[in-house]
Amino acid sequence: MEPWILSEAPDKPEESCGVFGVYAPGEQVGRLIYFGLHALQHRGQESAGIAVADGHTMTLSKELGLVPQVFKESDLATLDGHLGIGHTRYSTTGSSSSWENAQPMLSSIGPNTIALAHNGNLVNTLELRDRMKSHGIRFRSTTDSEVMATLVDHFTQQHDSIRGGIRETMKLIAGAYSVVMMTEEAIYAFRDPYGVRPLALGKLDGIGWVVSSETCGLDIVGAEFVRDIRPGELVKISGAGVESEQAVPARKPSLCIFEFVYFARPDSVMYDCALYEARENMGAAMARTAPVEADMVLGVPDTGIPAAVGYARASGITYGEGLVKNRYVGRTFISPSQTLRQQGIRLKLNPLKHALNGKRVVVTDDSIVRGNTTRKLVALLREAGATEVHMRITSPPVKWPCFYGIDTDTQEQLIGSAKSIEEIREHIGADSLAYLSVEDMVTSTGRSADEYCLACFTGDYPVEIPEAVRRGKMALEPATPAR
Ligand code: SF4
Repeated sequence: MEPWILSEAPDKPEESCGVFGVYAPGEQVGRLIYFGLHALQHRGQESAGIAVADGHTMTLSKELGLVPQVFKESDLATLDGHLGIGHTRYSTTGSSSSWENAQPMLSSIGPNTIALAHNGNLVNTLELRDRMKSHGIRFRSTTDSEVMATLVDHFTQQHDSIRGGIRETMKLIAGAYSVVMMTEEAIYAFRDPYGVRPLALGKLDGIGWVVSSETCGLDIVGAEFVRDIRPGELVKISGAGVESEQAVPARKPSLCIFEFVYFARPDSVMYDCALYEARENMGAAMARTAPVEADMVLGVPDTGIPAAVGYARASGITYGEGLVKNRYVGRTFISPSQTLRQQGIRLKLNPLKHALNGKRVVVTDDSIVRGNTTRKLVALLREAGATEVHMRITSPPVKWPCFYGIDTDTQEQLIGSAKSIEEIREHIGADSLAYLSVEDMVTSTGRSADEYCLACFTGDYPVEIPEAVRRGKMALEPATPAR
């Protein structure tokens, strides 16, 4: 389920951002980027922005709001150029309501302008900001992306080359970053050495190149998936084609497993695995490890649905629809009235009473963070006539906060950290509750555990988290030292 009301504390981890870039001589790329951002809307719903260039001049348009709220036909008409980048944002650092923090972020390198869009989160922003401030460097925003842009600027002037500037920056910054950046003439894409957040390269046959957080962004503009940008790789796309270099050595691959469980769209492909299929496999694994007698399996829209299909297939229990999503509530900037607020989850999900009445139901959902939404959901299903509600969660309990670009609350707010599974079952009011094991979750994707970041389930953080960053968000020591 995606986040919905801005003013409410989220009960799901929230994705940080989607990034998109196009280099296509002869095309007006503003419109391609607009549709690419539409496909990446689920990754960030607080602001959207597009920067384009025509080889000489750069034009930027960005605003708070959803992609169709931000861009009107008249805005797209002014975005004139054959290369450009775009961004959808959910803030994990910096204030969400500030226009300055919306991306792409512009800065200058000598006479040139750069625009930068970032998905992820740096863990050494504070340290780098302090170091730069002591050298008299000023900041306009509070984001790690600005720190990154400032470093690129600084090192580009030193090396007299943008690629050199990015390379030196990548040596200093730590954490998760999948970045698209542009000058008036070229696009650059680079990814942290652990590859925590995804970034795919695609080709518009005979026209140009596309970079997107997810492959669903390539599909919508008719681009063909070529390959992932590799961990630690820097790619330049210009009139000379695609030039690649390993800017920093790759480290242990650590793609965020939550992309498979919840964040990414089911029609995207990561690690050669179709996410819909991975989620179906997770549901089937749940049916094998946590069987229960029931009349119907249903999924919590949208992410829980493929898992319900998998659970039904493996268990032989009938699959059915029991919840209808109010698709157009989405994330809104309009606060509901108090009366509506008390409706809680009903604003978003409506139960199908005739389908649920008198039934023992198995309900698949992707995760439980605080537990409040799941408790309301179980009550809603009972009110609609379900006689038993068995919750099946297709990930392990979330016990540790994320520092790599996902907003998962402080550790003590995570119900999986504070309570046992039986206590959580009691809290949500379900007849039974089961979680998927780490092993089954990973196996469902066709890969092995050493190719993922699993930190929010295991406490094993691939990139070390500085003490100052950990403080306030983490009550316990990490399970194992970072590598
Ligand atoms: S800590 Fe969790 S949400 Fe964050 S990158 Fe790792 S697996 Fe993903």
